[in-house]
Formats: sequence, C-alpha cells, structure tokens
Amino acid sequence: MRMSEDEVAGLVRSRWGELLAEVGDGAVERYAEGVPVPRRAFAAAGALGLQAFALEADAVTWGRVLEEIGYLCADPAFATVVSIHTGIAGLLRATGDEHLADAYAVPISRGECLPALAFSEGTDLLSMRTELTASGPDFRLTGRKGFITGGLLADVFLTYAATGQGDLAACLVAADDDGVEVEPAHAAGFRTAGAASVTFEDVRIPAARVLAPADGLSHAQQYLNARRVVIASFTTGQIRRLLEGTVARLRETVRYGQPLMDLPNVQAAVGRMYIAVEASRAIVHRALSRLDAGTGDPVFDPVVSAAKHHVTEQALAALNEAFRVLGGHAYFGDPRYGMFLREVHGLLAGAGTQDLLEINLGMCAATCAARKGGNPT
Ligand SMILES: Cc1cc2nc3c(=O)[nH]c(=O)nc-3n(C[C@H](O)[C@H](O)[C@H](O)COP(=O)(O)OP(=O)(O)OC[C@H]3O[C@@H](n4cnc5c(N)ncnc54)[C@H](O)[C@@H]3O)c2cc1C
Repeated sequence: MRMSEDEVAGLVRSRWGELLAEVGDGAVERYAEGVPVPRRAFAAAGALGLQAFALEADAVTWGRVLEEIGYLCADPAFATVVSIHTGIAGLLRATGDEHLADAYAVPISRGECLPALAFSEGTDLLSMRTELTASGPDFRLTGRKGFITGGLLADVFLTYAATGQGDLAACLVAADDDGVEVEPAHAAGFRTAGAASVTFEDVRIPAARVLAPADGLSHAQQYLNARRVVIASFTTGQIRRLLEGTVARLRETVRYGQPLMDLPNVQAAVGRMYIAVEASRAIVHRALSRLDAGTGDPVFDPVVSAAKHHVTEQALAALNEAFRVLGGHAYFGDPRYGMFLREVHGLLAGAGTQDLLEINLGMCAATCAARKGGNPT
C-alpha cells in the first residue's frame, strides 16, 4: 500500500533527517565559495539507503520523499544532484543489461559511483557536434559538453553524440578515461551543485558502454521527461520551506507596534504563497500518479511538463511575494533567499525551457482537442 504524506514525512525525518541537517549546515558558506556538496554526503545517503529507496519506490512516494528533502535540506543542490543520480541509475537498470546494472546502477544506488548528465553543448538538438564513431570493436568519442549539474563530482557521464548518420547515440564515459577533461563552470545559481563542462578528446568507449546505439534523442527525452517531475517535486518542498521561513520572520518583525504578520496586505501575500504551495503539490501529485498508473507518455507527458512549468512559475511568484514583504531582510539579511532566487531562475531553462514547454503543450492541447472534436466554448 502506498505511504501517506505524513508517513513519508516521518520516514524522511527518521531515516535521513540528521544527514539532511548536516548537509544543510554548511550550505551558505559553500555557496559563497562555489564549493560542491561533499562527495561523502552521497556516500552517507547511500549507506542510509536513500538512492536504493528511489529505485524501489513508486513514483508518488519518491516524489513525496523529494518534496520533503527539498523542504528539510538547507542546501538546495542536494536534492537536485541526488535525484540526477537516481534518475540515471533507473535508466541504466531499465536497459535490463546486467553489466550496466552491476558496474554502474548498483554502485550509484550505494552512493559509491556518482553520475552526471552531459547532454547540452550550446547547440540545437539537430546540430550536436560531439561525435561517436566506430573503431574496431569499440567506439571513439570526441566533443565538448557544458552546463553539467554535478559534473565536478561525477565518476561517470551519461552523454549523447552524433553517429554521422543523422542520429544520436547514448553512452557512458568515465571521468578518468584517457582524453576526458572536466572543468568547473561558473554558474549563476546552484553553486553547490558542482557545475562543470567536459571535453572528450578521442576517448575510447567500449561497446558495452553504449546504451543506445541509435535514437538517442528519444532516450534523452525519456530521461528529461522523468526529470521534469522530479524537479517539480523537490522545488515544491523548497517553496514550502520559503513560506515557513518567511512567516517565521514576519511574526518576529514588529513595525509600529505590531508584527508584520498581523497586517492584512502581508497576510494576503502569505496567502498567495500558500496557494502556490498547494497548487504545486496538486499538479505534481497528478503527474506522479500518471507515471505510476502507466498512463503517462514516457517521452513527453503533457501533465509532467505542465507540472515542471507550473511549479517553476509558482516558485518565482512565491519568491516575489517573499521579497516584497520581507523588506531588506531578504536582500541583505539572510543569503538563503538569494540562493533560492538564483536556483529557481535556473529552472527557467533546465530540463526544457519554459517557452519550449509552452509551445509543445500548446501543440499537444490542440491535437487533443481536435481528436475529441468538441468545442467547450
Ligand atoms: C540550472 C541548470 C542546470 C542544467 N543542468 C544540465 C545538466 O545537468 N546536463 C545537461 O546536459 N544540461 C544541463 N542544463 C542545460 C539545459 O538543458 C539547457 O540550458 C536547456 O536545454 C536550454 O538549452 P540552451 O541553454 O541551449 O538554450 P537555447 O536553446 O539557446 O534557448 C534560448 C531561448 O530560445 C528559445 N528557443 C530555443 N529553441 C527554440 C525553438 N525551436 N523555438 C522557439 N524558441 C526556441 C528557448 O525557449 C529559450 O527561450 C542545465 C541548465 C540549467 C539552467
């Protein structure tokens, strides 16, 4: 039977609460210096069964776990990075390939091997310059990828490359393979997520590490589709955290003899933040339920994309309310508000830009409406 919201909250606190508090403790200092979450945090999470839990849980339960992690952990990068690890492990396990499972998915699930997605290279999807070419029984990989979340921490990259036949292939590259060079990226936000770029210079890729020799685009889209609802899940928890932090501050800030929280305009702002939280939870839950029921489209599910889009916009709206009612405190007094502001702006582009999601959703909605033949107006 599926766990209730309260049961999930209790589980996360009892099993991983201490670790999340530890990771959160150093977040502000790490953020200022651009130092990633320490590798040992992922190993500790693995020892406590977090990543393995993700691989066994249904989508709704894992989504709720991520919401709680987003809510409890003061370092927003932890949920971001650990969920990339579990997403890639899930993809590897789904191949049914024993070598990929034993060599990568199992160590990832223990926090002993850290993966990252190296997809983007500052081109459109049809113009990727990274190339994978056959060379005897193996392949050779040459190119450069950027904007890689968790890239500085990564032991292995899931990457995509043109095959020369107008197609993309998916393969795994080890960070210590000859010809691989990882460099830090200077990111506007997610500064504890170890952002990096990676260069592949004639890297030998054994055939066993080629996950998808063709149609890598669909492969990547499946990963990104699942990624969208994961982002929406932990961001919902982070909006809850923002709401509670804002209320705590408003209660203790007195102006002209009364706490700010007692002023009706401030109450209305907090009310709008509350609506943002509940609306986010509702759409995320619906998207996750579709995945569990098997009714969602694994490549581009409209509800999943709507959830990522909606939660991102709700997070921006909630931040706007918080910055208005907290006065200078949010700007000067507590760096965590600025951190979240920067992270959420990253979601405007990450896992599909908001604009492109809108275009695709518009096309989906039009097709769906035409198929039904109805005219609700
Ligand atoms: C915080 C963050 C984390 C990320 N993590 C990773 C990661 O771990 N691994 C990875 O590989 N990548 C990662 N990325 C990269 C991310 O996937 C890309 O930024 C995203 O796909 C957009 O691509 P782009 O940056 O080239 O933007 P562009 O494609 O240049 O888009 C710029 C603008 O043009 C619009 N546009 C583009 N094409 C069209 C079109 N056909 N029609 C209409 N409008 C269009 C877009 O909507 C957008 O408004 C990350 C990005 C961010 C911000």
